[in-house]
Order: sequence, then C-alpha cells, then structure tokens
Amino acid sequence: MKLGRTLCVALTGLEGRLVDVEAHISAQLPHFSVTGLPDKACGQAPDRVRSAAATSGYPLPPQRITVNLSPASIPKQGTGFDVAIALATLAAAGVVDARRIAGVAHLGELGLDGSVRGVRGILPSVLAVAKAGIRHVVVPPANVAEAQLVDGVTVHSAANLATLVEWYAVRSGFASLPVAEHVHDDAEEGRRSVDLCDVVGQAEARLALELAAVGQHHLLMNGPPGVGKTMLAERLVTILPPLSRDQALQTHAIRSLTGDAIRASELDLTPPFVAPHHSASVAAISGGGSGVVLPGAISRAHCGVLFLDEAGEFKTSVLQQLRQPLESGEVTIARAKQLVRYPAQFQLVLATNPCPCGRAWGKGIDCVCSALELRSYQAKLSGPLIDRVDIQVIVPPVSRAAFGDDHGEPSAVVLERVLCARAAQVERWVRHGWPTNAHVPGHALRRRPWRLGGAVTASIDRALDHGALTLRGYDRTLRLAWSVADRFGRTTPSADDVGLAFTLRSHGKAAA
Ligand SMILES: [Zn+2]
Repeated sequence: MKLGRTLCVALTGLEGRLVDVEAHISAQLPHFSVTGLPDKACGQAPDRVRSAAATSGYPLPPQRITVNLSPASIPKQGTGFDVAIALATLAAAGVVDARRIAGVAHLGELGLDGSVRGVRGILPSVLAVAKAGIRHVVVPPANVAEAQLVDGVTVHSAANLATLVEWYAVRSGFASLPVAEHVHDDAEEGRRSVDLCDVVGQAEARLALELAAVGQHHLLMNGPPGVGKTMLAERLVTILPPLSRDQALQTHAIRSLTGDAIRASELDLTPPFVAPHHSASVAAISGGGSGVVLPGAISRAHCGVLFLDEAGEFKTSVLQQLRQPLESGEVTIARAKQLVRYPAQFQLVLATNPCPCGRAWGKGIDCVCSALELRSYQAKLSGPLIDRVDIQVIVPPVSRAAFGDDHGEPSAVVLERVLCARAAQVERWVRHGWPTNAHVPGHALRRRPWRLGGAVTASIDRALDHGALTLRGYDRTLRLAWSVADRFGRTTPSADDVGLAFTLRSHGKAAA
C-alpha cells in the first residue's frame, strides 16, 4: 500500500484547525472516497480531483483510493480541501515527492480543468496554519493578498495543479517553491473620500456624533427623510480611533469568510461600516445560511459601526436579535453538528423618521399616519434595545441660512479630540476593565468615587424625582455627561456637561 500526506485547515466559524490529509492507494477495484466528516461539497472532491488530475496530464491510477481527513471529529466543509487531497493522492501514486508536501499546508478548490480556484476563509485558515507553527502555505492566486496579511508564514501560489505537480515532482529535486508576490491595490486610496466637513450645518447632530465616538455610545438620530442622517452615520468611522492590528486581522478574517474580496496585502485599519437594508432577515443580520454558517451584518460590523437606517421598518424579530450580542459582544449560532461563535462588538447607530409617513415634523400637520400607526411605530423602537442607546438626538431639516455657512471641521481635527478623550477614559477606567464610558455600569457612576456633587446633578435629580427620567435614563445621562467632560478636556463633568447630556437625550423623545 502506498501513502501520501499533506496538511489543510478546517474552519468552525473563525476558528481554524490543522487537518491531516492522508491518501492510501491499494490494488483493488477502482474507487475513490473521502472519510473524516466531510460535508456534501467536500465529499464530492474525488470527482473534481480525478478530472483535474487527468486534464493536467497526471491521471490517477485505476485503483482503490481512500483519503482520510483527521481529526475526524470536526466537520470539513466546502471545496477548499481539493488541492490537498489531489497532492496527497498524487504522492501516494508516486507522482510527487511525498516528503516535500508533508510539511506544507495546501488550500484551494480545483476546477475540472485543473485550475486552482479561490475559496472563502483563507485568512482565518492561514492564521491557523501560522499558529500551528507551519512555515509554508500554498493558496489560490485569488487569495494571495489576504494570506499575506498573516505574519510568520511564507505564502506560495500556483494557478493550476500542473504547476504544483511540477514544483513537487520527484525529478525536480528540492528547489524551493516560488514565493507569491506582494499585492498592492491602487484603487484603495480613492475609496476613503468621505469626511465630516461634507456635512452642512447640523451642529447638534455633529456634536452627538463626536460624543458617540468619544464614549463609544450607541446613537439614535430622529428626523425627517433627506436631512443627512445617513451622511452623518457614514462619517462616524472617520472619527473613530483606528483598529489595532489584532482587531484588523479579525475584521479582515470575517470579510474573508463572507467572500468579500481583500485586494491588498496591507491591513486596512479603518473600522468597518455596515448598513443592512431594513428588509434584511434574521440570518442576514445575525449570521447563518445553509451549509457553512456565515457571519451576519453584526459580525461584519465587529469593531466598527452597524447602521440601521429607517430602524422602525426593520422586523421586530431582527431588532430583538440585537440585544444579546449588544450585551455579550458575540453571537452564537447552533447547528446540528456544531456551535459557531462569531464576534460582534459593534457600535449601533439607528436612524428613524418621526413617523411612518415621515411628515410628523414641526407642527406635524401634514402627517397622514393614524394614531394606531404612530403608536406601533414608536413602540418598535422602545424597550430594552433603545435602553442601550445613550444618545438620542433630533436631526432637523437644514435651514437655507446654513447653506452659507462654512463647512464644518474635517474628520482629522475631530479625530484628534476623540483620541485625547479616549486616552482620558483609559486612564480613568482601565483598572476597572471598562474600555470606554459606554461600558461603565450605571451604579458605578452613582457611587463613590465617581459620584458627582448634588449641585452638578441637580437638573437630572429633579427630573428623576418628577418621573421625567427613569433610573436607566438617569444612568445613561451620567455616562454621556462623562463623555461631554472628556470631549471638553475636563477631569469631571460640570453642571453644564450634565445639562448638555440631558438635552441630547431628551431631544430624541420629543420627536413626534
Ligand atoms: Zn406620519
């Protein structure tokens, strides 16, 4: 019996595990099978491999071929095992040198013509390869850029099976594999063109956006259609601190899994901005799908911003679904054979119209909504979800007077202030384990040493006593007041800071 073996990776969510791909050939009736918990696509690898090998000029022997993928306990999903299965089999057949492929990880799908095709999830797979201490990985040409984001592993690539076989052919000796060239994307630079200075007027909404960036607060913008809520939301990522290298690797790994093309071998440190349509399903938002469990919008927004425009139009089940990840920072999807976890620490930005018809503005005389419609519209954006949204502002129509205004500050200037304010928060909260003001539990702010003086909180104390503010609302106002203080460089909030925080909160309510 002849044997060939090489390495591949099985993914469960973002978690990659090294897989031994072992091929045996024995002199029995022709048969080709894959064992070790392959899914349907992986189990069909023999058809693709046999055809690819034949068209590449290296037909497989008409004998019994058995490929085992171990450990057998983890599911092997998709077509990314093809190249490894082909090479292990060709090593068993004596076509390639078994010793040369043994310590190399091979990822990629084979076309029937022998071409090596790109697959999803190359980045998390190569991260697993590097973590396991494997020094060489062969990936499809389409996935070279994302593979090169990983440190500590040399990336090789070949366009087809024939090229790979020639590299590894017994007679070609031990010449090292050619290394894939570094990939640059010139189009990348033109894409970063949005800037806060594009926004005309809207002083209060701009301040709310900056405070959201300062304290990582969730934000609700309430206003009639066409006032620039989307424009503001898109610009939040331009005033957020850049991602750390580890965060960026995570966000790129999620992109890699969803099949979003990564075109350059440099990490993009801009936080992601994800804006799903209000018709999106629970699976599209939270993750799921048939076969491989793919990350949803909330995971694509990990370390960045999830923007729900026309939030009141989203299905109630979708809005409900956001609560658990907002609390835990991750989402869990259960399947028959596996439990998949994806990270989902996102900053939520909601935009809503004052009513379903959008005209309940000012005096609201043009509004054609019935009282019942109004009530159910407002009920959708209330309760536990909205309780987590610290900042709720009204975005009014821009008056013609504002057209003459100079444009506002550019994002770079605002970002400077945000970075200072974040540094102050780190200094204050780091030993408590809270990264930003938004993470500080309400009770902590009501107790020593963070309790503010009675004169400072007089306005909200009164509102609480009169029932104009709930205790949760009180805590949110306190959290926001700390961000106001950080924004203006004060060590503790003043009465004015608390007042401003209260205004920003209560404004959103008085919308309709
Ligand atoms: Zn209306």
